[in-house]
Amino acid sequence: VSDSDMQLASRQYRNETRTVSWGKTTIGGSSNNTVIIAGPCSAESAEQLDQSAQLLTGLGIRNIRAGAFKPRTSPYTFQGLGLEGLKMLAKVREQYGLTVVTEVRDATQLEEIIEYADVIQIGAKSMYDHGILRRCGKTNKPVLLKRGFGTTLQEFVQCAEFILSGGNENVLLCERGIRTFETKTRFTLDLCGAAYLKQHTNLPVILDPSHAMGYAYGVPDLSRACMAMGVDGLLIEVHPTPQKALSDASQQLDHAQFTELMASLRPIAAAINRTII
Ligand code: PEP
Ligand code: MN
Repeated sequence: VSDSDMQLASRQYRNETRTVSWGKTTIGGSSNNTVIIAGPCSAESAEQLDQSAQLLTGLGIRNIRAGAFKPRTSPYTFQGLGLEGLKMLAKVREQYGLTVVTEVRDATQLEEIIEYADVIQIGAKSMYDHGILRRCGKTNKPVLLKRGFGTTLQEFVQCAEFILSGGNENVLLCERGIRTFETKTRFTLDLCGAAYLKQHTNLPVILDPSHAMGYAYGVPDLSRACMAMGVDGLLIEVHPTPQKALSDASQQLDHAQFTELMASLRPIAAAINRTII
């Protein structure tokens, strides 16, 4: 990425990683925090979100993720509960004091998402949507921008620049796997790319092992590798009954697997002087 392509996101523009805060969460800056953002792929029911919220609060995790508007690969599958899902998330937010990370699928729901979300997630398939990027530049809410699966690091950072140059300082970059020749795993988690982003950009970096792997069996090991990289956050899918999940069933951890994973992440964080929040 040449200097002209990367401006506000570059270390030349700002040497220290940006501090991004929402609710009780602060990452970047001099914090050394690694935030865990976890929850089901989709908001499916009030009961499911309640179970998720209990798991997370029991483990001291402050951020729940769940999509209400799902950007599915097929139009014939579950597309999300829409506004009803956002309202369910607002309820667990209020009841459990969790902050909510939820995704925008297209610009038509953006005003609702901005109203309900603490962190606006832009999915891999929407990463190039300039309507979304420009509107997200006009809010101050943090934006978690996922890398498209066929996107170079340069294109990824350029999309972040659309948000930053619109005036929103709070952008998080999320690597979630790119498409390679390999088909045995869903995508290939680009940890080299994450190292590049850490070195050359001033934006907090979040890793999503769940969507990269596509299968729950690999997610704990990958999560530990991600933690060992010293990144600003991990995004992990966990569901009360993964086999019954309405989207991304194969990759979601169950509650026991997630609890065990969290225990194993703590010594890794300690070894590299990071604090899990
Ligand atoms: C998700 O986070 O559930 C999701 C749809 O992710 P991605 O945009 O990375 O495919
Ligand atoms: Mn998902």
